[in-house]
This record gives sequence, C-alpha cells and structure tokens, in this order.
Amino acid sequence: MRSWTCLLTAAALLLIALPAQSVDLVSDREPVATIVVPDEALPVESFAADELAHHVEVSSGAELPIVAEAEAPAEGHLVLIGATLAAAEAGLSADDLPVNGYLIRADGARMFVLGDDSDGQPGWVQHNNRTRVGTLFGVYHLLDHELGARWLWPGPLGEVVPERDSIAFEEIDLTGKPAFIHARWRDGGGTVAGADGWADPANRSRWISEQGRWLRRHRFALGVNMDMAHAFTTWWEKYGENYPEYFNLLPDGTRRSDPTYHGGADRLIAMNVSEPAFHRQIVENWLETRTEDDPFIDASENDTPGKCTCERCLSWDVPDPDLEVPWDERLQHAREAFEAGERDWVKHLGSLSDRYARFFLAVQAEARKHDPDAVVTGYAYSNYRFPPLETTLNDHIYIGIVPGGWMFGDPGAVGEMLQQWDGWAATGARMMLRPNYMLDGHNMPVYAADRIGEHVRHCAHHGMIATDFDSLTGQYATQGPNLYMLARLTARPDLRVEQVLAEFYAAFEPSEDAVRAYFAHWDEICDAV
Ligand SMILES: [Zn+2]
Repeated sequence: MRSWTCLLTAAALLLIALPAQSVDLVSDREPVATIVVPDEALPVESFAADELAHHVEVSSGAELPIVAEAEAPAEGHLVLIGATLAAAEAGLSADDLPVNGYLIRADGARMFVLGDDSDGQPGWVQHNNRTRVGTLFGVYHLLDHELGARWLWPGPLGEVVPERDSIAFEEIDLTGKPAFIHARWRDGGGTVAGADGWADPANRSRWISEQGRWLRRHRFALGVNMDMAHAFTTWWEKYGENYPEYFNLLPDGTRRSDPTYHGGADRLIAMNVSEPAFHRQIVENWLETRTEDDPFIDASENDTPGKCTCERCLSWDVPDPDLEVPWDERLQHAREAFEAGERDWVKHLGSLSDRYARFFLAVQAEARKHDPDAVVTGYAYSNYRFPPLETTLNDHIYIGIVPGGWMFGDPGAVGEMLQQWDGWAATGARMMLRPNYMLDGHNMPVYAADRIGEHVRHCAHHGMIATDFDSLTGQYATQGPNLYMLARLTARPDLRVEQVLAEFYAAFEPSEDAVRAYFAHWDEICDAV
C-alpha cells in the first residue's frame, strides 16, 4: 500500500539532520543500528524485535540485523529490546511498570525498549491469550507515534508505513501502558475462527496469525482477568439443601428455580441477593480460590432476571417510574402472573438495579473485612440493566455493560446506549464495555464507523477501563472502516472519530475520494434499511 505524508508532521523526534546524541537506525537507506535481544529471549521479545525490523525495512528498505546480546557489537548504535543485561546495568527494570506497560529510553547511542512481559505465545488467537506483552507495546508505541505506521487490516496489504531515507531517535524517555487494562475482540471459536470454508488449512493458519498480530498492533491484551460469568450456576446443587436462604423466594413462597423460566433449570435460579449469609459464602469461596491472575470477586447473577420477592430484597428496590402497576401493588401483580404461569411475571417487579447495586456493595463490605482492596465485578443485565436511581458505588466495583441495540440501520440506538453507560458511570463504578453489535452484518457491505467510534470514544472518556467485544467477524473488505475504527480507538482513544476515518481513507491515495464515496454510499443505504 502507498505510504502517505499528510500525517507525518507530528513525528518530531525523527530527524533527518542527525545530532551527535541520537540513536541512528537508518542513514540514507543504509542500516546503521543493530537490534539486540536477550540471550534467552522470551517469545514476546523476539516478536517485538521482528516487528521493529520489519517496519524499519518497509519504511526505508534497510534491514537491521537482530542479534542475541552475547553477539552484540561493542560499539555502534544499538536498539536493546526487552530485559537485556545492558538494561539492568543501566538501572532499567520493568518491575514497577503496570501490566503490559513499557519504558523507552535513548541513552547516548543506545535505545532501550522494555516492558512488563511474560513467557508465552504473543501472537495467534488472542481471545484467551494472557501473555503479557509490554516490550511489544513499547515497540508499537514507537511505530505508531514516531514512524507513523498504520495498520488498516491484517497482513502486509493493510500496512501503511511512511517512506523515510533516515530514521533516528533522540532524547526519548517515556513510560507508557495500554489505554485499557483488558481489551478483547473475540477472535476465537468456531464462528469466527473455525476450519470450515477454507480451501487450504494453511490459508486459515496464515489468516489467524496475521489477525492476531493486527490485534496486538492495536494493543489488544488481557492485562487482568475481567472475565465475568454467571457466577452461581452450580450453587443450587451445592447449597440448595442446606442453605435454601441463598436462593430466591418466588411469589408462591417457595425457594427453587422458576418453573416458568426454561423449565426451572437449576443453573438458572436467581439468588436472594440481600441475604447476608449469601454474601459471606461468596467471600469465603473467593478467599479460597482467588489467585494473582484471577483476583476479583465475581458477583454476576445467573442468566436470569432478578426474582427474589422476599421482604428485604423488595425493600432494597427503588420505585421504578416506568412500572405500569402501582409500586405498592407490584408483588400482588407479580404473584397473580406467576400463578397464571406467565413467564414474564417478573416485569411487575420493575427495575431491580438499585437492589443489585446494593448487593455489589454488600459483598464488597464483607470482602473488605479481609482485604481493603477487594474488587467486586458484576454485569448490568436483564431487569437490572438500567442505571440505579439512588445507589452510589465506588471504583472497586467493576460493572460490565451489555448495550441493547445494534449499530447498522438503527441510528437511535447510540443515544440509549450512552444513557445506560452514563447512568452506571455516574455511580462511581469502573466500567467494562461488552457489546454484541460487532457481530452484526455478516459479510455484507455495511457501514457504521462513525457511530461505533462515537460510542466507543464516549465510553473511553467516561470511565471505561476494559472492553470485551463480541466478535471480530473479519470482513475487512466490505466493513473496513468499522473494523479500523474499533481497532484504532482501542490503541488510541485520544483520537477523534474524523481523525481515524481520515487515516483510513488517506491510505488509499490517489483513490481516497472514490473509497470515501463507496463507503458513504453504504452508510446511506444502511440508514435507510
Ligand atoms: Zn430476597
């Protein structure tokens, strides 16, 4: 792909006239520096060195050698990647960096790039890849901010690297980290990464490998474990007999799984979320099972609406202004509907968001008796998806928001999504965005890049610490701007939506206008359908 020049003015640290104290990588298209990796390099350190060498070559044609530290030349310009002995001797360590964080320092003729790394595969399917890749993100910081590299889609055709005769860095001394502690765009599983439909398994292999690399280039990484799941699916089996008070009191006075809901399956039972003994049991289990890699208390309700009609749970609710029956008659209406076998009897209870917010607080209060830094996670979902009306949370409660609505052909959806987001963010909780809207569109030419950008960017600037997008369908030809928007804002939420689109279209120069017109056409069609 053609390189472009209009976005390069910001690359202030790259100088054509080289002062004495710069680290020179390339001079007049000739390699000047050597890339050095530790003698026992982690896969991520080697991957990072390869990525740096690759982009320098695409930009300038110069091939920088990559050598192990024991083979490093005694003199000359060096780029030291990862936890080298030289970095340790220079007093540089990744120990105090945040997860997936990095530091970059130019020191005389040496430049160090190192980060918070772990052993493990950095590439391939990213869905559950928990390798820490700080050094790699340090290299991507340089490629993005200094070399102006852009990655429109996976593979060499999607790489846009401005051409240069010389590449040098001076006076660089920074630390950085990814914008989010957890960024996932689901790229695993049969739907998006299955073996069906490939003419040759080698093509699929190459595809997955390039797509995993593309996600890394956009700083997708699971820095901490934000996996939330319906947390009490096995509790009835385990505790139903001895601790019935952990479970919902249905309108007929029984504690059991709701027979009107999917046949009363045990795993779908709702919990008695105001019950102190239940809170204590959650915390007791967490103390036994928590690990450094999985430190949070997951208090996500089972895959069911909240249903407990005990007096205390009802007293935790806040009158729902949208409820169609009078607030003080809601239990009676719920009971009649339940007894008539109506599956949606629970609608008469109204929004239970304050009840669930208080539940998260109660679990947190119990956990704080053991650990003042305890973090509780939970979904905003089902009949507790709307923001609570009165309850205030705090920054040690992480809420996973699943927006309703779709992006394509539904221009009103974003407003509702933002209301839901802002309401929960206003409680003081920290927030994870877990949308389903990137699943939409199949392989059709559909366009909603500006709306996707508006939504993601708003969340990023209003409390979002983590993402989990379902899913990366990979239709880069027909949906390129949508996919680039989400990827680019994951790496750089500081960019405006128009800037991201400008980057995308500028890469097609001299056909920029034609490509813009092509996607504008589908934008119009999508809104009309
Ligand atoms: Zn209850």
